[in-house]
Amino acid sequence: MPEVRILSRYCKGCGLCVKACPRGVLRMADTVDRRGVRIAIVRAEVACTGCANCAVMCPDAAIEVEAAARTPA
Ligand code: SF4
Ligand code: SF4
Repeated sequence: MPEVRILSRYCKGCGLCVKACPRGVLRMADTVDRRGVRIAIVRAEVACTGCANCAVMCPDAAIEVEAAARTPA
């Protein structure tokens, strides 16, 4: 299964990644962090396809997507 990670210290809360995800995997947090930023969080990783739209869209390189490990043939 692909893994998507938000690097919270880099997130500025713009929300672009939430709009970019075709699977509704991401959402904005309900509360602000100690910087006063409402960061993006992963709400449904199981739905992630690893397409990396969110990471490409993020202006602050705050998202890492790790594709699923391939099963050896
Ligand atoms: S990798 Fe694709 S499916 Fe997964 S959270 Fe990002 S945009 Fe959504
Ligand atoms: S696009 Fe990047 S900076 Fe904007 S909310 Fe998403 S993770 Fe945070």
